[in-house]
Parts: sequence; C-alpha cells; structure tokens
Amino acid sequence: ATPTALMVGTGRGAQLGILIKGPEVLESTRRVDTIVLDKTGTVTTGEMTVHAVVAAEGESADDVRRLAAALESASEHPIGRAIAAADGVLPEVEGFTNREGLGVEGVVEGHAVVVGRPSLLAEWAQHLPAELVEAVDRAQDEGFTAVAVGWDGRARGVVVVGDTIKPTSAEAVRELRALGLEPILLTGDNERAARHVAAQVGITGVVADVLPSGKVAEVRRLQELGLVVAMVGDGVNDAAALAQADLGLAMGTGTDVAIEASDLTLVRGDLRVAVDAIRLSRRTLGTIR
Ligand code: ADP
Ligand code: MG
Repeated sequence: ATPTALMVGTGRGAQLGILIKGPEVLESTRRVDTIVLDKTGTVTTGEMTVHAVVAAEGESADDVRRLAAALESASEHPIGRAIAAADGVLPEVEGFTNREGLGVEGVVEGHAVVVGRPSLLAEWAQHLPAELVEAVDRAQDEGFTAVAVGWDGRARGVVVVGDTIKPTSAEAVRELRALGLEPILLTGDNERAARHVAAQVGITGVVADVLPSGKVAEVRRLQELGLVVAMVGDGVNDAAALAQADLGLAMGTGTDVAIEASDLTLVRGDLRVAVDAIRLSRRTLGTIR
C-alpha cells in the first residue's frame, strides 16, 4: 500500500476507536490468521464481584472474608479489587507480596495470610479439605473463579468471584471466524471456568491455567506452527504475550502496560472493534473489494 493509503487507514481507524501505533502496523494486521483472546477483561467485563464465601469446617466465613479483603486491598488485580470491596474498615497489611498470576501474600492481624490459586496455598503446604475442594469444583463448573484463602499453615476458606461476558463478545467471535481467523481463549483462570465462558461465546480452542510466562510461550508455540498470531488482552499479565504476537491489540479499558506493549488499542474495549481493525487493514491494503 502507498504511504497515503496507510495514512488514510490510520485516520479512519481513529474514527472507529482504533489507535494505531504506526502506519506499518496495518501491514502485519492483514496476514493474521489466528486470534488469541485473553478471557478476563477482554471477552468478559473484568468487573468482578464476590458471589459467595465458603468457610472450611470449624472456620468463620466472616474471618475468611475480612482477612482476604484486608490482604487484597493492596492488590490491583480485578479479583483483588472485588474481594477488597467489602465495606467497613479493614485491618492493615504488612509485607504485601503480589505473586503475579497466582495470588497475594502478607501479614494481617499477625496472621500470615495467602489468597489465590489452590496451587499457591499448596506452596505453603496448605491443602484444601474435601468440603472446600467441592466448593471450588462447583463454582468452576458454573464459570466462577474460586480463590482459596489460608493463614497460619491452614486453608480456611474459598471466595467465589465472577464477572459477566461482554454483550458484544459472541458477535465478535462470529465475525472473526467469518474473516477466516480462528479464535483461541487464553487465560490464567481455571480450565472449567474458561470452557464455560468459551462455550457461551462460541470458542472451541481453550488454553487455561497458564502463568503470565505461559501466555508468551503459547503465542510463540502458535507462531512456530507457522501461524500469524494476533493477541487481544488488557492485563499486566498479557503484556509480554501482546509484544510477542505478530499483532498486539490492547483494550483501551485495560492497563497501561498492556497498551504500551501493543500495536493497536481498541479505545472502548469492545471486541467487535478488533474485527473492524482487521477489516480496515484488509481494505487499506486493497485485499478486500
Ligand atoms: P487472567 O488470565 O484471567 O487475567 P491472571 O493470570 O491474572 O488471570 O490470574 C490467574 C489466576 O491467579 C486467577 O484466576 C486467580 O485464581 C489467581 N490470582 C491472580 N491474582 C490474584 C489475586 N490478587 N487474588 C487472588 N487470586 C489471584
Ligand atoms: Mg485480562
């Protein structure tokens, strides 16, 4: 395409709510055949709320909620913000540590508290008793994320959080397929919750339970298969994968790190605009009549 066509395309993009880093970006967009979609905040709203708090036998659900909320008040993760959104004054946190893609750790009211994936609690030799395992399974089957809470060497409860699928996601997936792009859902969340969301928006390819480093590895693996990969994401944990992808698309509603790592920003955070971006580049480059 001529520089003029690319300039016009870039301007048209801005009108559609697509911020393009440089005119050359439209060239790589055209060849994309695979589109990897982050789940939380990209396909779903990312606005998590607490659905339930389950205490282990002999534990108090109030304590589980209070200590988890206090610890998460230092977190910027959507799950953390949901759990911390409890009313009332929360106890202070010392030695807060964010374990990216796993959960959080810190000291609250003299207790060493861990909140996150069951595998994070397992690192502290805190294993979920049967009633909590059951609560986790049940929540995940319904598409929720179950976060385990433990302190002082023992798993004490589970906080069930969830968000909703964006109303435009299913339509966007259909349109992406119509353009010849195969969508894949990529998430650090658990497999069952991921499959639940995927089924609702019509995606069959799911890669779940991945760590942030696993997201990059998955994009690279697809590229090594000869695929030209676009990735859409919003989180800190998506940044490396967005940079690795042949085309990185950030949700404008997402984190600055994700936006900086990307080639394109979808200003309104609407997945349908990713479809507009692909169409625009094809049109700009004269591959669509
Ligand atoms: P996603 O790919 O869906 O954006 P992340 O990689 O950020 O997910 O997180 C993966 C998983 O790690 C979450 O589903 C959750 O179980 C756990 N996790 C991450 N951060 C936190 C946190 N602040 N509090 C509790 N759990 C967390
Ligand atoms: Mg996300």
